Amino acid sequence: MSEVAKILEKWRLPRPDRSPIYEWARKHVVLPESYATPGPFNAKLTPWLLPIFDALQDPLVRRVHFRKAVQVGGTLVADVWIPWVIVNDPGPISWTMQTEDMVERHAKSRLNPILERCKPVSLMLPRPGPQRTTTETYFGGFFLTLNPANLSTQQSQSIRYKVNDEIWLPRWQEVYGHAVARVSKFEEVGRSKIYNVSQAPIMDAETGNVEDTSFRSGHEGEWSVECPACKKVHPAAFAIRDERGEIAGGVAWDRKARRDDETWDVARVIESVHFKCPHCQHQTDDSDATRAAWKRTGRFVAQNAKAPADVRSYRVEAVVSRPMRLLAEEWAAAQNHLVRTGDETPLVEFRTKREARPWIVEKKTVSIFTTKSGYTTATYAAGQAIPDEAIRFMAIDRQQDHWWVEVGAFSTAQGPRYRQLWFGRIETRDQLRQLQQRYAVPDACVAQDRGYRPADVDRDCAEFGWRGMRGYGRKTWTMRDEGSGQMVNFPFSEPRVSDYRGGDVYYYDWSGDYFKDVLSLAIEGKGDLKWDMPEDVNPLYLEHLKGEHKVEVRTGVWEWREVKSNAPNHGLDTSAMMLCMATIAGFIKYAPQSPSV
Ligand SMILES: [Zn+2]
Repeated sequence: MSEVAKILEKWRLPRPDRSPIYEWARKHVVLPESYATPGPFNAKLTPWLLPIFDALQDPLVRRVHFRKAVQVGGTLVADVWIPWVIVNDPGPISWTMQTEDMVERHAKSRLNPILERCKPVSLMLPRPGPQRTTTETYFGGFFLTLNPANLSTQQSQSIRYKVNDEIWLPRWQEVYGHAVARVSKFEEVGRSKIYNVSQAPIMDAETGNVEDTSFRSGHEGEWSVECPACKKVHPAAFAIRDERGEIAGGVAWDRKARRDDETWDVARVIESVHFKCPHCQHQTDDSDATRAAWKRTGRFVAQNAKAPADVRSYRVEAVVSRPMRLLAEEWAAAQNHLVRTGDETPLVEFRTKREARPWIVEKKTVSIFTTKSGYTTATYAAGQAIPDEAIRFMAIDRQQDHWWVEVGAFSTAQGPRYRQLWFGRIETRDQLRQLQQRYAVPDACVAQDRGYRPADVDRDCAEFGWRGMRGYGRKTWTMRDEGSGQMVNFPFSEPRVSDYRGGDVYYYDWSGDYFKDVLSLAIEGKGDLKWDMPEDVNPLYLEHLKGEHKVEVRTGVWEWREVKSNAPNHGLDTSAMMLCMATIAGFIKYAPQSPSV
């Protein structure tokens, strides 16, 4: 060896392993028994992960985003990448998960066993103690920490490698910006790396979600496979849509499995399930052979060609590894549940966790269709009865120093019909009583909202013989149904008694949300109940109806919320009270539900 060669030999740094992460992992990473496929890491089982590993290893890529179905290996990527980083390209690592619980569980059952069984890492691990706890390891020049997603854990040292888990969750929406800001020093010198791994979000289109923003800022690689018949490439997706949004292919089954009542015969769905090519309609079996062929031909196809090169995003659905019959069964059961109960929760879960597609929450606002009702406020201003009148009510929404009032009458001769006779603001208690008398509303048919100053409401009820009403959100009260003798849930309570200066006054608890639903259907002209308004209806009434809309507060749970805070909504409240009174009095039918539903 020449002198120069000797000198160079001395100066040569130990060379890091530059083979792909998954090649390195095949030799060094052994998955613990907590994984469905324990043993030496085998990238062939999950070929859709390979481009993701490549992106994590690419020095020009700053952020990798994986939107994935459950159980396709999103977390596995981080479990394999971290030991590789520790050995081959070290720097401070922070992995942020949803909760403290998740952090503990993942560290104990997955990541720590992997690190201990990975020989090159185990040689570097300090002894358990102050340098090494369940969730923090100090390697000397750098560290590895696992932490929950909250602001206090995201505001300390600079991080080079950042893993962010399930960032679609509400708790992440505020934390995400802080979490990624921690890599900024390494980002400036082009050495940082962020790995976001998450299911698709449940979100409303206006507010958005950090998961969706991160995914869409990348190239949106869609895992796609070849059709064995026409050889064209199509997404490996449960439902493949064409440009018009119609379903053109994907997991399919016998359409005759749909019954007349819109539910699916699940057994028939399962026995006829197959995969349909969106290009040539070729049918492929639900088999391991099909999934193996998909693994051989699979690749990511970019949907967002304009994305910057340093952000890579990928999407993989459950159908790549989960049998189609299980997916079809779950989907059909979710549809049946929706048809039978109106609850979308299982369908939302399927969309976000199996299809890895976002669920967009639609805001429901009341659309008002004013038709020619053929009467004005003057028509009934002297207390005249409406055609076939069955009963009339007055609903009062109490404010600090005034009231909002609605007077209306119901008829049932040609199906349930409501006619609003008067709506407006009243300034004094005397005027309130005068209005009632002018419209000849019986005392027991006047109800005042008891949510505000109940003692004053009780005083009015004691003096005038009115009723109180205390509204709640989504709530039911279990009572015995007089018709059937069964215990059933009603959207209102039995009459309750309040003592006012030695006299009894009556009030009801009631579900505001339920009756606002009934009201919005009636106003939109859907359902049996006809909702008439005078042709000179108080424009404030229409304004008030728009003062709230329905929003999904958590999966499958809808509530009426103010559009903007303090928007007036008194018309919505008085009309909902009208409907509640008419329902309690039996003029509007309520189809009882058993308490188990
Ligand atoms: Zn085809």
